[in-house]
Amino acid sequence: LTLVGQTEPRIAEAIKAELHDQRHSLKLIASENYASLTTLLGLGTWLSDKYAEGTIGHRFYAGCQNIDTVESVAAEHARELFGAEYAYAQPHSGIDANLVAYWAILSHLVERPALEKYHAKTVNDLDQADWDELRYALGNQRLMGMSLDAGGHLTHGFRHNISGKMFDQRSYGTDPVTGLLDYDALRKQAKEFKPAILVGGYSAYPRRINFAIMREIADEVGAVLMVDMAHFAGLVAGKVFTGDENPVPFAQIVTTTTHKSLRGPRGGMVLATKEFADDVDRGCPMVLGGPLGNMMAGKAVALAEARQPSFQDYAQQIADNAKALAEGLLKRGATLVTGGTDNHIVLLDVASSFGLTGRQAEGALIDSGVVTNRNSIPRDPNGAWYTSGIRLGTPALTSRGFTTSDMDVVAGLIADALAATKPVMTSAGAPGKAKYTIADGVAERTQAAADEL
Ligand code: PLP
Repeated sequence: LTLVGQTEPRIAEAIKAELHDQRHSLKLIASENYASLTTLLGLGTWLSDKYAEGTIGHRFYAGCQNIDTVESVAAEHARELFGAEYAYAQPHSGIDANLVAYWAILSHLVERPALEKYHAKTVNDLDQADWDELRYALGNQRLMGMSLDAGGHLTHGFRHNISGKMFDQRSYGTDPVTGLLDYDALRKQAKEFKPAILVGGYSAYPRRINFAIMREIADEVGAVLMVDMAHFAGLVAGKVFTGDENPVPFAQIVTTTTHKSLRGPRGGMVLATKEFADDVDRGCPMVLGGPLGNMMAGKAVALAEARQPSFQDYAQQIADNAKALAEGLLKRGATLVTGGTDNHIVLLDVASSFGLTGRQAEGALIDSGVVTNRNSIPRDPNGAWYTSGIRLGTPALTSRGFTTSDMDVVAGLIADALAATKPVMTSAGAPGKAKYTIADGVAERTQAAADEL
């Protein structure tokens, strides 16, 4: 940091300040974690300086033997850890992993059969009319994923994301009463819509999913099942999600980020069956340029860590802590979407519980030393900007060694801070959606207690 500071002091200060913030507040953002120092050391190396477009052993640049090693080791750990037939470690992020997966599926479903239909040996044999037909076919496929307000991710077909633009898209939601995924309704909707790709997985759904049923539905309608396990990859790696709750044996393609519950560096990965391996392997040049060697080194180290038996204890503790946090909030009178959790996420309905918007609750909590993010709840009356929910996740605090009794204390701090927060009224006398006040001394007290933990 001294060296960084000599070159650009503002960056050194920002790094120091971030370390301070992450150490002196309760990090409950469900998608964040603390990567190990070993993983971080893997990232900060000269592997960053090497270009290696292409795939292992087939690069468009010379001198890539070390990146080949790094990428092979990362992929090997991923295959072994998840029991996957094939792993692709190049995606720089979760969104990249999903784009690689979507184009791999489209190539597999449309481009390859079309090439066969034209009896073309190479793409150069196709004329303009062929390409127009192909482009139409590629751009006209159907995708079905979980809606954003039910907990799905932007990349699962949201209209302002490329996934919503490149596909003819339809969303599935959750049951209006229980908040749970309704497999019968999903089956019915899939039969009507007949998607080419059925996407499973979520960013804000506090429950486990039965992927055996998802695959059954996909098969019934002739869809490829793709599961985005970005959020719960650590729970799969740590064998908390086994049997029907593990997507790897059921989905043809599984994507993930490496930095959430999996506790690696920021990045993405794609796992696939052999059938899809060649198509996934074309992620570069299809949607990626040069892979980041240093990030793949960080992934390899983190995946090696996740293969240690202690990671299973860590993953189980994540789930136990989430349950304890949910119980702590429920016993203090809070309302939770689906009534609880059985993964790492708790979705707190702050509108019903405390008469606040998500934006107000998020602000009041950060003033009190608790970092969360506002989140829509199903059919959210406050929309996606103000929202009615707060998403809480336990992977980061579990990395700090928090146990279930600590989570009860955390639930108390959250409930006290939010109970002391009131919306500021608008000039028309109605509760506003952004501004809030906190009763004197509460934020400071909570902040001090959070720091103490
Ligand atoms: N998929 C899911 C389910 C996610 O929750 C996220 C991130 O929040 C992503 C993909 C995107 O990951 P990234 O931010 O690395 O692009």
